Amino acid sequence: MRVGQGFDVHRFSDDPGRPLVLGGVVFEGERGLDGHSDADAVAHAVADALLGAAGLGDLGSWFPDDDPATAGADSMVLLGAVVAAVRAEGWSVANVDCTVVCEAPRIGPRRDELQACLSDVVGAPVTVKGKRAEALGALGRREGIACLAVGLLVDPGAAGP
Ligand code: MG
Repeated sequence: MRVGQGFDVHRFSDDPGRPLVLGGVVFEGERGLDGHSDADAVAHAVADALLGAAGLGDLGSWFPDDDPATAGADSMVLLGAVVAAVRAEGWSVANVDCTVVCEAPRIGPRRDELQACLSDVVGAPVTVKGKRAEALGALGRREGIACLAVGLLVDPGAAGP
């Protein structure tokens, strides 16, 4: 077994036309996040957790934020590529758990959608929790959204403990 952690944070965009996408789910009417891709902080944190567990570097080295090819990219597609790379190394994803930290939007009402979307791409259970920043710091001032993730990989060919 191998465990990995992921973290990501994106600031809110000043562009009113930019959609907010978290875990592949679009939050209509909410401020979007700034970033080179679609700025899906949840997809990015999950991808980094899996890359870390597999010892495959980080998302920025796989998809540099100055690469025109990934400008505006759907981060769930990038996450799918990461999952494929992890599997190609012989690993199977056991599960991923995420915490999204923000004052808004509320994650709880959309939790099932995020979990379904992420679990579909990862091919294993992905759980999502929402946590407010209690008005502390940049996240508490509603300047952006952060996500933490932890992922567990197992070697399907290895003997159990
Ligand atoms: Mg990111």
